[in-house]
Amino acid sequence: MKPENCAYCGDMTDLPFHCSYCKDPFCSEHRLPEEHRCVKLTQIRAKKFGERKVIRDGNIGKPSGIKRFFRKFKK
Ligand SMILES: [Zn+2]
Ligand SMILES: [Zn+2]
Repeated sequence: MKPENCAYCGDMTDLPFHCSYCKDPFCSEHRLPEEHRCVKLTQIRAKKFGERKVIRDGNIGKPSGIKRFFRKFKK
């Protein structure tokens, strides 16, 4: 692996870490998206939020099933 400059602080590093999101080389200090203010960070957060929303939607689906059960029970 050839030495590269960290895209965030500019330090030369023999073992550059490449961000799996923006593909830029970073030193060990700035390899995490949060540490180099990754341009994809908002997209990563949006994806995480989306996953949480899916779980929440799944929970919303349950009461409607219970409601349907009670309607059936009344008749
Ligand atoms: Zn750095
Ligand atoms: Zn990045």
